[in-house]
Amino acid sequence: MQSHHGAPYSPCLTFYIMYKGKNMKNTILFFILLAVSCIHAAPIRILTTTTDLKSITQMLTGDLAEVTSLTTGKEDPHDLTSRPSFVVKARQADMWIRIGLELEIGWESAVLRDSRNRRIQVGAPGHLDVSQGIEPLDVPTSNTGREAGDVHPHGNPHYWLDPLNGRIIAHNIATRLMTLFPEHKETFATNLILFEKKLDERMFGKNLVAKVESGEKLWLMTIRGELDKYLQNNNLKADDDCWLGRLAPFRNAPVATYNRSWLYFLHRFNFQLAGELEPKPGIPPSAKHLLSLVDTFKQKGVRVILQEPFYSLKAAQLLSSRMGVKIVVCPNCVNGGDDCEDYFKMMDNLVVKLGDALAK
Ligand SMILES: [Zn+2]
Repeated sequence: MQSHHGAPYSPCLTFYIMYKGKNMKNTILFFILLAVSCIHAAPIRILTTTTDLKSITQMLTGDLAEVTSLTTGKEDPHDLTSRPSFVVKARQADMWIRIGLELEIGWESAVLRDSRNRRIQVGAPGHLDVSQGIEPLDVPTSNTGREAGDVHPHGNPHYWLDPLNGRIIAHNIATRLMTLFPEHKETFATNLILFEKKLDERMFGKNLVAKVESGEKLWLMTIRGELDKYLQNNNLKADDDCWLGRLAPFRNAPVATYNRSWLYFLHRFNFQLAGELEPKPGIPPSAKHLLSLVDTFKQKGVRVILQEPFYSLKAAQLLSSRMGVKIVVCPNCVNGGDDCEDYFKMMDNLVVKLGDALAK
């Protein structure tokens, strides 16, 4: 995979060296080279709504694109609003990539409209919603009014925390890149294969992927609920240090969360979703609500509360003082804190932190 850092040489430095040498022929040659490299090196400008999308996109494009995320990873994605700087960035973009399922509903349409950039409007080839092919969880079955809180009508949009969905996201992005920029088709295809291999090995372990000869086969068995049986019958197991292996000892463990944003992650790794500290999505917990949770969580045997760094710790601390539950504060998007500079590191960090808390 190509690195996305820096150009192979610095034009300014080259010019300086040639100027110092007062070599006219070289100077002319340099300008010709600079002109040629400018034509060829103009990177594709991609704007993503989140840092996770930026990270995955960068792994697919390498140096071919300049990828920018509108959000930094440190904000609550439910509370985002449009900013003038978003519009400036959107004006230049060749491609816009979003999570969808209404995660960006509060600000996307205003940014797109004000950018007046036809390439990235909804419906244009430069606009990509990566939720295609994702199986949404939490799709409301009845009409939900405002009293239900901040409910997402098309299902829970925090789906990037399931590695399978990370794989689908990468596939969707690579496919669209190949259509939009066919001259780089081979690079995107190669990088997608590398991404999928890396993800599959982190999920199931290098040994298992090598033995089964295909990560895709492992995912298919996972979706069908046949993986356990297959591993048992063939005397195989996931490596202890891969995501699946690291969390396997805690199967069905009840985990409480602050917001329902961890749903896909807990679902994929077979945890029991014991409940949220928020009484309704987007509504901060009251003392009365928290006290009612103490009994429920005790009954279910909850030992861990998982929450993002941008929420107040007060509620979790109250529960912790009442029932000795552990609090795991962990970013669930790229750059949301330390040790999560890319999609893989963000998942690594989450798996290790939760695994450590449950192991004690
Ligand atoms: Zn949400």
